[in-house]
Parts: sequence; structure tokens; C-alpha cells
Amino acid sequence: MAELQKVETVGIPALEGKYIGEMDIWPFEAPEFTRIYPFFDNLREGKFTTTKCKKCGHIAFPPGVICPKCWSDELEWVELPKRAKVVTLTETQAGAPAGFPSPLIIAWLTFGENSPLKHLLGRIINCKEGELKEGDEVQFVVFDVPSHPLEVKKDTKVSDRVYYAFEPVKK
Ligand SMILES: [Zn+2]
Repeated sequence: MAELQKVETVGIPALEGKYIGEMDIWPFEAPEFTRIYPFFDNLREGKFTTTKCKKCGHIAFPPGVICPKCWSDELEWVELPKRAKVVTLTETQAGAPAGFPSPLIIAWLTFGENSPLKHLLGRIINCKEGELKEGDEVQFVVFDVPSHPLEVKKDTKVSDRVYYAFEPVKK
């Protein structure tokens, strides 16, 4: 068995330096763990993408491996708009779930009538408490997620991770 290197745990002292994958709030992004790994590869290039069905044209979000409308598995990757407007929002000012700093801001976003993705519930970062208002514009942003060593078929793999959120567009 490959020896795992000691990893820092954040905010969960009971784990005593051990890493428990089930408690990880971020997806494992390598091809060994997910068939939608191109979504994460695209994030690394700063692209916001999802899957479009080649048969019926349906665009789903989050991306998948089968079309939820016609069950075809012939899908292609398409880019989504990176700017949206805030319809409404909620701010958790204290006591956010483990792994999230306060304030934890979640907004219901609209991408406009012409967008293939009309709405999305998105996390807002780089934003102070009370700063964001309804009607404000936000933009897509990619951030690094701490990577952890994982065992894959007796090998230890450290895969870099990223995730996406939105941030206020500075006026
Ligand atoms: Zn389809």
C-alpha cells in the first residue's frame, strides 16, 4: 500500500491529521473519479461549460453523461455565459457549514433570455457582507481547492482541484 503523506485538516480537529474523503465537500475531479472530468479541465482554463445533447439539443446543468430529456449519451461540451444578474440572495453571516467562511453568500442568478442556461443558484465570493444587492451584476470566477492524496488502484494520486463561484463586477 502506498504511504499517504500527512495532510493538514481544516477545522476538524477530531480527525487528528487523517483525511476522510467522505467528508470532503469538493468533488474529486480526475478521470479516475468522474466521467464529467472535462468540466473541471475546462474550469482550469477559465471556461464555464456544460453538456449539450447532440440528438435533441437539450443543454443540462450541471453537466452529465446522459441527456435527461431523451437519454442519449451523445453529448458535447458547450460554453456558458460568464456574467449574470442577481435576482435574490441569502447571506449566512455566522455559522456557515464546515469548509465555508462567513459570510456564505448564495444568490439566485439570471443569465438572460438568450442564454442556454437561464438560472443558477450560485455561490458568491470576494464579496463583503451587505455589499451585494438584487440587480447587481456578477461574474464567473475559478478558485483553487486544496488537493489531497488519494489512493487509486494501489497508487497514490494527488490531483489538483479547482471550483467555480461568482464575484461582484466592480463598478
Ligand atoms: Zn437529448
